[in-house]
Formats: sequence, structure tokens, C-alpha cells
Amino acid sequence: MIYLDNAATTKMSKAAINAMLPYMDEIYGNPSSLHTAGQRAAEALADARERIAKLLGCEAKEITFTSGGSEADNQAIISAARIGERSGKKHIISTAIEHHAVLHTLERLEKEGFEIELLRVGESGIISPSQIADAIRSDTCLVTVMYANNEIGTVQPIAEIGVICREKGVLFHTDAVQAAGHLKIDVKELNIDMLSLSAHKFHGPKGVGVLYARNGIRLVSIIEGGAQERGKRAGTENIPAVMGMVAAFEEASAHIEEKSARMICLRDRLIDGLSEIPHSVLNGDAEKRLPGNVSFCFEGIEGESLLLLLDDKGICASSGSACTSGSLDPSHVLLAIGRVHDIAHGSLRLTLSEENTEEEIDYTIGAVKEVVQYLRSIYPIWRDLGSGKKEFIIK
Ligand SMILES: *Cc1c(COP(=O)(O)O)cnc(C)c1O
Repeated sequence: MIYLDNAATTKMSKAAINAMLPYMDEIYGNPSSLHTAGQRAAEALADARERIAKLLGCEAKEITFTSGGSEADNQAIISAARIGERSGKKHIISTAIEHHAVLHTLERLEKEGFEIELLRVGESGIISPSQIADAIRSDTCLVTVMYANNEIGTVQPIAEIGVICREKGVLFHTDAVQAAGHLKIDVKELNIDMLSLSAHKFHGPKGVGVLYARNGIRLVSIIEGGAQERGKRAGTENIPAVMGMVAAFEEASAHIEEKSARMICLRDRLIDGLSEIPHSVLNGDAEKRLPGNVSFCFEGIEGESLLLLLDDKGICASSGSACTSGSLDPSHVLLAIGRVHDIAHGSLRLTLSEENTEEEIDYTIGAVKEVVQYLRSIYPIWRDLGSGKKEFIIK
């Protein structure tokens, strides 16, 4: 099996699994308990917090453990909204290509009376810092822009956006779920106020993540209950998952440059190969993109059929985000970069890990070419396109 769906989730690393085992077996105490078993767990948790903070360039008390990226996004945005609301600021700036964890939280706030402004992106899928500067108003309480996109892999100018928000005194949140482990993240250098991470996207366990919130930002609890996470997130801490996440994040953060260079080689080999398919187009920017992301649209193809036929050939791929598959709506990200419905339906996302090989890439190029050709041969409209009766959309 060739796994090319690392933006949906990754395989856990051996280091992550080994880091978890003792906390399911010997050190199983509840960190809130005062006895020795509990205190051993509490020490592990404190150590994990320090280590995550060190990797992000912040202090341990600025780290809250959550159940994943979605919860971190929800909590960051709702907290910023509550802070803004107190001083009458109810304008929030974001982008049309955010993850649903961000977009749906913003929709909920809109129903409450917040004004949500989603910035448009051009075909490259990149927001320009001047768009942010122009959109900020005196009643803006939050700017939330993802670091890197989960579907088309575009990397946003987060450092520049951070400077603008800091200058204007507006809180800045970034969903860095896809960036973590691939791009260096230093929250102080990037002027980030709040940031979300998810362990299962960097070879850690599922169901655990991080919300960084700069000192002084009062987080609102999303889950009510006990006083865990200094009252910011109730529920007994998932210590095994937290320990696995830390190990995975340390491993992923080491040697980012060498790892990325290798992945970029494989990525570009795949992009070059798939570009040979007639009437195909790469989605997202060719340079400002994640080292492991390849996203294409093929005219005259139905994405779901493509996926199923690739699966028969042993290739695990995706048509966009895991969250939208199963629904018939085309991806909001592809529509936002200007792909029309028919074209957006013919999408393919292949996301690499450092374990993929050149042989796998070459096999995949061959398989995609074959399957695309086959699907077009049985697609009724394809003949009209070929004979010139109907115009191609992708030239
Ligand atoms: C996967 C993902 C999330 C959600 O993270 P979970 O831990 O699965 O809840 C949020 N944002 C982005 C960009 C993602 O890729």
C-alpha cells in the first residue's frame, strides 16, 4: 500500500508509540490526585508542557492541551470573540480557505451578531499582508489566518501578518496544524498570539492537540467541569496521548530542513509527472507550498471515481479534505481559488511523508495517468471536448 494521504492523518512514529506505553501501564495515575501515582503523572504532564513550549519558543504556562486541532481552533476563536465583545469589538477577519473548524466557529459567532469578513484569495491561494492591513478596523477583535492550507498546501505570509496585527493591536490566531513538523514555528518571532496544533498530523496520536495563547490572553473554557489545565479545559488529561505528541513533535521538529528538502524533491517529481496529463492544472502556488502537498484538478474526471480506482491500485489518496469527502459539495477551497464546480469535482490531493520513496512516486504517476485516461474514455462529454463541440476549461 502506498499511503499518500498524510494531510488527513499520519502513521504514528515509533518514538511516539514508545513514549506513550509507560503512561498506559506503570504511570497511570490521575495528575489531579495527591498521592504518589498521581504526582508522577502530574510531573510527566509538566515536563511535556515545558518541552512543547521550548519547541514553540514560548513559556509552559502559555500551553493548553486540547483534544486536537478542531478544539484548539474553536477555543482560540471563541476566546478572542469574548475578549473583543467586552470592549464592543465584534469584527473578525479570516479567509475563505480556512479549515471548517475555523469557518464553522465563525459562522456560529456570526449568528450571535459578530461581523465576519472572509478575505478572498486569488488563484495562487495566498493572502497578501496588505489585504489584512486594509481590512483591519477599529472594532476588529481578531485576525485568524491558517499557516498552511490542508487541501492545496499554500503557505501564508504569517510573519508579515503577525507584524501588522501587533502594530494595530489586534489579536492574531493561526491554525498551524498543517505547518507543524514541516515549517519552523517560533511564536515570538512570528508575532503570533494564538496557535493551534494537532498531534496526528505530525506522526503523533489522534485526539490530542495544543492551543498556545500568549500570556495575558484569557481563554474561555469550551468544556465545563474540573479545574484541569488551570481551569481552561476541563476533563482528566490524556497523559499517554500528550506524551506521544511531545515525542512526535520533537522528532518532527528536528532536521526540518533536510527532511523538507527530500520531500520537496519527491513532491516536484510528482508534480512534474502529473503535469504531463493533458487538461490538468496544479492547485495552489508552485513555490509557497508545503513540502509534501500535491493537488491537481483534471478536466472530465469525477474525483471519487479516481480515488476508488487508485485505491484498487494500492494508492491511498484524497480528493480534497477528509472532512468534505462523503458530501457532494465541491471543496470550498477549490471554489475559492476560482475552480468552477465541474473542475473542482475532478480534484486529487496527494500528501507525502518522509517515508515515501521515489519508486512509489513513479508508480503513482503511472497509475494516475492510466486511471485518468480510462475515466475520460468512458466520460460521455469527453468526446464532445475532443471534437471541439465543447470548449475545454483547462487548456
Ligand atoms: C486536521 C486539521 C484540523 C483538525 O484537527 P483535528 O485534530 O483532526 O481536530 C484543523 N485544521 C487543519 C488545517 C487541519 O488540517
